[in-house]
Amino acid sequence: MITPANLGFPRIGKKRELKRALESFWKGDTSENALQKTAAQIRQTHWQTQKNAGIEIIPSNDFSLYDHMLDTSIMLGAIPNRFRQQGEDSPLALYFQMARGGEKTKAMEMTKWFDTNYHYLVPELSKATRFQANPAKTLGEFHEAKKLGITTRPVLIGPVSYLLLAKMQDESNRWTLLPSLVKTYGEIITNLAEAGASWIQMDEPCLVLDLDAQAQRAYQEAYDSLQPSKASLMLTSYFGALDDNLALACSLPAAGLHVDLTRGKDQMEEVCRSLPKGRALSLGVIDGRNIWKSDLEKTLSSLTQARDLRGEDSLLLAPSCSLLHVPVDLSQETALDAELASWMAFAEQKLQEIRLLADGLRGRKDEKAFAENKEALRKRRASPRIHHQEARARLQAVTPDMMRRKSPFKERQALQAKSLNLPLLPTTTIGSYPQTKEIRQARAAWKRGEMEREDYERFLENETKEAMRWQERIGLDVPVHGEFERNDMVEYFGEKLDGFAFTKQGWVQSYGSRCVKPPVIYGDVRRLEPMTVRWSRFAQAQTEKPVKGMLTGPVTILQWSFARDDQPESETCRQIALAMRDEVLDLEAAGIRIIQIDEAALREGLPLRRSAWRDYLDWAVEAFRLSACGVRDETQIHTHMCYSEFNDIIPSVAAMDADVISIESSRSKMELLEAFVDFRYPNEIGPGVYDIHSPRVPSCGEMAGLLGLALRVLRPDQLWVNPDCGLKTRGWAEVKPAIEAMVMAARTVRGGLAGS
Ligand code: GLN
Ligand code: ZN
Repeated sequence: MITPANLGFPRIGKKRELKRALESFWKGDTSENALQKTAAQIRQTHWQTQKNAGIEIIPSNDFSLYDHMLDTSIMLGAIPNRFRQQGEDSPLALYFQMARGGEKTKAMEMTKWFDTNYHYLVPELSKATRFQANPAKTLGEFHEAKKLGITTRPVLIGPVSYLLLAKMQDESNRWTLLPSLVKTYGEIITNLAEAGASWIQMDEPCLVLDLDAQAQRAYQEAYDSLQPSKASLMLTSYFGALDDNLALACSLPAAGLHVDLTRGKDQMEEVCRSLPKGRALSLGVIDGRNIWKSDLEKTLSSLTQARDLRGEDSLLLAPSCSLLHVPVDLSQETALDAELASWMAFAEQKLQEIRLLADGLRGRKDEKAFAENKEALRKRRASPRIHHQEARARLQAVTPDMMRRKSPFKERQALQAKSLNLPLLPTTTIGSYPQTKEIRQARAAWKRGEMEREDYERFLENETKEAMRWQERIGLDVPVHGEFERNDMVEYFGEKLDGFAFTKQGWVQSYGSRCVKPPVIYGDVRRLEPMTVRWSRFAQAQTEKPVKGMLTGPVTILQWSFARDDQPESETCRQIALAMRDEVLDLEAAGIRIIQIDEAALREGLPLRRSAWRDYLDWAVEAFRLSACGVRDETQIHTHMCYSEFNDIIPSVAAMDADVISIESSRSKMELLEAFVDFRYPNEIGPGVYDIHSPRVPSCGEMAGLLGLALRVLRPDQLWVNPDCGLKTRGWAEVKPAIEAMVMAARTVRGGLAGS
């Protein structure tokens, strides 16, 4: 039997209905009832959409008001103690407190969901955790769909992935919780089975990670004891190949196995052979991580091979992972260039592809649709829009010399010290200043055509001028222009580079009600004209101090976009690097003596498997160096990374050879500096002393204290003074006192150094 299936549908809604409903509920403008009603409507629409697309196995419980890991913690009764005290709150109020924090309670920690841009709420467990089944949500949604005549397959995050993704709050061993956790899952599965669910999708994405022996044993134990269960379990892996966990996954006693055949193309044959006869095999053939049309003909032929290998056993066709990570519906993109649109598929279009493939395999091939798909792909390959002679030629002409600064750091440092003439412990910021309501309104008006370009630019000049004046007054050593002209650090550059396209409704959930709209890189990337020089030059004209030019790095631009799938990412990244290199050189020629190239996403691009790290880090570092290394020794290159875990990647960070790196560190009280010290990081470092993620204004004394801690491990000539990250999300009312206090703190500590 061949069945078209889905693993999960985007929740936010075609027009981001869920976002609006959530935000108006949070503001107190609408009732809980109204929110629940909108949520139910969204679910109903999505189930219906999937049914109409011909999907026969439709998920439920893939919906969430905030996050599916948070839902799982609630389902298991794993509520951290600090939320338990508030007895009188409604379940929904408690739920949002866990997600967003309450007046006195800190929200649960949020972190990236594997290598996606989605964030989940990290379960907080300890040896005192007592699980308790609370299947209300998943049962409720199952019944809700059933009333509409749709029998769904509920989705649960599996017990082993849940435990692996949790954070133990004490030193205890997470695996001691496994037996009671599995028992709780058993109860929930029984509840669902009794409600009529014959299959349950058990998401175990951790099966594609490097697992130690304990974790592998946990898989065995967990699924052994869930067996026999009243419902059939579809063990679901995604985001990569099973590799060394393949034998384990195939041997677990689940009734079915789902595998990712986009990132894990090569595992198909082995899985087909290893999965015992009689089990259902779900083939994730449609890429749930990008927005390109699939090659239907090619996929059908590999599916035919799978069918021949599996014989009579049941086969399911599905996306590689939940469609949560792609936008909802391409047909809304009426403003998108028709040629580009003809190459793409969003969630709804991907479901159609699954149906077409299933029909093809069932002997009902839609010849017309297959021919159209073939023609679209052929046109894409041949399109002059993708290929640019000049860009290709430049790629060919890259030499190792272009990725090396002219002199080693020590020599550059001396030259830069002489030409920049900065004090010890120089002060600077990470780039952006508050994006006020006025700025956003002006940009919107200009984009709508209601404001003349000149007026908009004049407005931005005034903002910049004011920021420059203030920085001058408070004595910031290395001022920045403020990035008022930028909506977003990737979109801004994407809009100016050739090879990028933008959608109107291509939203993807990032966390809670927050969505991002990643640019699409469809062709060879080229810089058409200078992108930032005008603003840096304008700012530099206001001051004698060296203004820091501000760029986004090639790895970050790539990571935060939907990249083309017809060439390796490393090649696309190199093209972006060449474009940024031109910009760096133009900034230098315009008299900008310090240039920062942000690589906020370098670490999050790390492949899930350690064995793939080397290769990634090599090309990522090369791309950064290609963008940075064209400058003279006297020009100082900065980079910024907003995270605090460097242990794994510090040699690569050093290999980037930026003269100065600024990092996030105020929250960890400078602990992360240890990684830099142990490694003897040679270049200059600005460990953030102001946590910009909080509205709190730190005092001068507090920041001086942090600088003191930093000076215990860093040389004074190595240390910079700056916030953790850009200030665009903060208001001036916090930024001004905080940065002024930061400058004072630097002066105080500097004074102490001179005295000693
Ligand atoms: N220069 C950027 C800014 O200040 C950096 C932001 C980031 O790293 N996330 O906004
Ligand atoms: Zn940052």
